[in-house]
Amino acid sequence: MKLFKWVFSLLLLLAAGAVSAQSGKVVVQWLGQSATKITTPGGKVIVIDPFLINNPKTPPEYKKLEALGKVDLILVTHGHGDHFADAPALARLNNAPMWGPAGMNQAVVTLGILPVELAPRFGKSGTITPLGPNIKITATHAEHSSELLWKNPATGKDETHVGGEPVGFIIELENGFKIYHMGDTGIFGDMKLIGEYYKPDLIMIPIGGHFVLSPKDAAYVTREFLKPKFAIPFHYATIPQLKGTPEEYMQALGPSSTKVYPIKPGEKVEF
Ligand SMILES: [Zn+2]
Repeated sequence: MKLFKWVFSLLLLLAAGAVSAQSGKVVVQWLGQSATKITTPGGKVIVIDPFLINNPKTPPEYKKLEALGKVDLILVTHGHGDHFADAPALARLNNAPMWGPAGMNQAVVTLGILPVELAPRFGKSGTITPLGPNIKITATHAEHSSELLWKNPATGKDETHVGGEPVGFIIELENGFKIYHMGDTGIFGDMKLIGEYYKPDLIMIPIGGHFVLSPKDAAYVTREFLKPKFAIPFHYATIPQLKGTPEEYMQALGPSSTKVYPIKPGEKVEF
C-alpha cells in the first residue's frame, strides 16, 4: 500500500511537471537589444541573439546564462557582438546547436569557436526543423552587415572575420503561431513579400535607428508591409546611437490593427 501511494505521488508530480512545461501557450520574453527567449506551446525553449552578460539593458538576474534554464535551440541573426556574444557559451552549456547564417557559422567552425555539430549552417529561404517537424524555422533577408569580431587567443588581438549575410527568422510553432524575429535590418521592399508570404502573427522589430529601422521606418513597414497582429519593438536605448523609442514607434503607427507591446527587458508576453 505504501509503495502504491509512493508511486501514485510520483505520477502526480510527473504529470504536474509535464503540465507546467507544456502550457499550450507561446511565451515570449525580451531580454534587451534583440535577445529573446521563446517557450513554445510544447515546452521547447528557443533563445535568439543572446547578448546578455555585457548587455547594459539585460536585468541583472539574467546576466548568468544558467538563469535561462534548459535551452533546446539557439538562433543567431548575424555576427555582431550585440547578437552573437553569449551564443557559443550558451550552446556549450546546453549542448544545444547554435544555428546561424551559413557564412557566419563557417567562420565559427574554422576559428574553432564551436565544433561543427554545435554550429550547423543554413541560408535565406532555408527551413530547418531541429526540434521536430512541428516547429519550422526559416531564414529571411535582412538589410544589414555581419562581421565577426574575434579575439585571437594566440595573439590576444582583435580580428575581424567574414560573418556571412545577416538574416531574420520566421519561427512557426506547434500551434501555427508565427514569429518574425527581424534581427537587425533597415527598410527593404521585400518585407512586403515576407508579410504576404509568411503572414507573421508577431513581429519583433528593431526601432533604434542609426544601424537599423527608425521608429518611423518601423511603423511604415508594420502598417504597409507586414500587417502582424502583434508587435514587440526592440533594439533601442542600448547604446546612445539607438535613439528610437517605443512611444515614437507607436505614435508613428497611429491607430492600427497591430497591438504593440512596449515591454521592458525581462518582461514576458503570452500569446
Ligand atoms: Zn544589433
